[in-house]
Amino acid sequence: MTLILRNIVKNFGKICAIDNISFKVEDGEFLTLLGPSGCGKTTILRIIAGLENLTSGQVFLDGTDISHKSPTKRDVSIMFQDYALFPHMSITENVAYGLRMRGVSKVERNKLSNKWLETMQLSGFGNRLPSELSGGQKQRAALARALITSPKILLLDEPLSALDANLRIRLREELRKIHSKVGTTFICVTHDQDEAMALSDRIAILKEGKIEQMGSPNKLYDEPKTEFVAEFFGKCALWPLNKKDGNTLLAGTNMECKVRNPSNLGKCKAVIRPEYLKIFANGKKTQNSINAKVLDVLSKGSNNQVTVEFENGLILDLQIPRSQKLPPLSTYVQIKMLTTNLHSITSQLN
Ligand code: ATP
Repeated sequence: MTLILRNIVKNFGKICAIDNISFKVEDGEFLTLLGPSGCGKTTILRIIAGLENLTSGQVFLDGTDISHKSPTKRDVSIMFQDYALFPHMSITENVAYGLRMRGVSKVERNKLSNKWLETMQLSGFGNRLPSELSGGQKQRAALARALITSPKILLLDEPLSALDANLRIRLREELRKIHSKVGTTFICVTHDQDEAMALSDRIAILKEGKIEQMGSPNKLYDEPKTEFVAEFFGKCALWPLNKKDGNTLLAGTNMECKVRNPSNLGKCKAVIRPEYLKIFANGKKTQNSINAKVLDVLSKGSNNQVTVEFENGLILDLQIPRSQKLPPLSTYVQIKMLTTNLHSITSQLN
């Protein structure tokens, strides 16, 4: 199964929700659409499902143009944010619903729904009503219902957002395992970066109806192409660079660094992630350290978070182990760089 979206445009009246997007999804891939509210994630999902008419562009599934096919003829299932289980039907009836609509016999329906309930570790829950299941069990029942018709693609709209924080983390691991087990192509929408990172083979980062960048989670984190991607996908400080005596320096400091992807340095900013930096409270200023002011400190369980402001006004949240003494607010600390081999972005502002 290969899904191709070609030059997709979707306008709602004067609002351009999707602005000429093209991408390809490979067979069995787990792709996540990630971006801020209103960037067009759900609209893309609905276009693939056939729930939204296109303004222009085409959708191909295995080489066939399905742009104008009705949702029921697309071999695509969708799992909604609230799971949308029918409240008056048992779990078995819910799971078997798609087969019943296709006229599959009761014997075959029961056989297949038992198999899917077993796959989802819900054997023995078939006679219950949705209201008698926990959040995680409802999610697995909804997955069984969406997968029982063997769709070529499963679309997941914020599949974990209805759950509490602990369950979200546990169930995203389960979702990943279910994906590996069934091998169906999953396309998921979320605005949670950690979730996207944990689940996906690839992520498409969207902004204002366009794809900013698409790639593996590591590629997006390590080599963002734009400031938006660098800042949306993980925390960072975007530090201007300049040249002095043939060396590349973080502007305003004596800190030398090596830029992995050099271009016009005058327009470049280095991407500095929190884990590249280490705080030394009361340390002396040296060639290899940067001065910063402590703006805030916060206990985060296993780590503490220290928010610092550099002399050029950039602000960054750094993690320090609980064993390390917290620097007092408004004092100055020295920040050392654990790596000076940095990725850079050509600034859009200069
Ligand atoms: P969220 O994360 O908040 O769910 P999203 O990224 O899924 O947002 P979409 O729901 O795809 O965003 O909406 C994209 C844009 O299209 C938004 O500006 C939204 O207001 C607009 N939009 C979506 N559906 C409609 C509609 N039926 N009529 C008018 N405008 C719409």
